[in-house]
Amino acid sequence: MRPISLVLLDLLYPPKCAFCEAVLKDSRQMVCPRCQAEISWLPEAERLQTGEHFTLCLSVSWYEHQFRFAMLQYKFHGQRHLAEVFAAPLSNYIQERFLHRYDLITWIPISNERLRTRGYNQSELLARAISERLGQPALPLLHHPRPKPPQSGIATAADRKANVSGCFALAPSPDLAGSRILLIDDVITTGSTLEEAAQVLRAGGAAEVLCATVCRTRPGALHL
Ligand SMILES: [Zn+2]
Repeated sequence: MRPISLVLLDLLYPPKCAFCEAVLKDSRQMVCPRCQAEISWLPEAERLQTGEHFTLCLSVSWYEHQFRFAMLQYKFHGQRHLAEVFAAPLSNYIQERFLHRYDLITWIPISNERLRTRGYNQSELLARAISERLGQPALPLLHHPRPKPPQSGIATAADRKANVSGCFALAPSPDLAGSRILLIDDVITTGSTLEEAAQVLRAGGAAEVLCATVCRTRPGALHL
């Protein structure tokens, strides 16, 4: 039975689906059943990818349909509350697959210039929401010392790799020697951004880097 204060609150401000704004019958859900059914959840065999500098990258959904639309709203239209909607399933997956395998959570940084125009770093908000849910510390271990063109719209893996090369540096942070790090980002496409960041963390002493992203671009599809 829900407390009467919450029932009244639902009557005054009916909870709405984070994706389509339909009124929700159950305010503990964030997404309506119709949108839930349309999410392109990754099949079991596609959820994990291996990397060179990171060990594994875990993702929740293909970058299409509901999650793609919501991700664009989240990144480019100020819908920062969607961090919670994305963090919920991603935290569950992390708990299932990476339990006791990491000590610290961090995120892919954006340049100060981008931070000024967007007002927030979408990956940091995600990492902080995940940290809150899983009770593990989230710290800014990386920074982004120079502006670079966004990865969105760069078509080939080689060009994406060249675009991020040398763009991250270690932030003044605790000694990373021997630490196991969970690195959070919004979308994985070719993996070059996560590889670059993982390489910097490993060079800083991290023993292992695991990654988790909300979405994964289908092989051959452009991340636009
Ligand atoms: Zn909906």
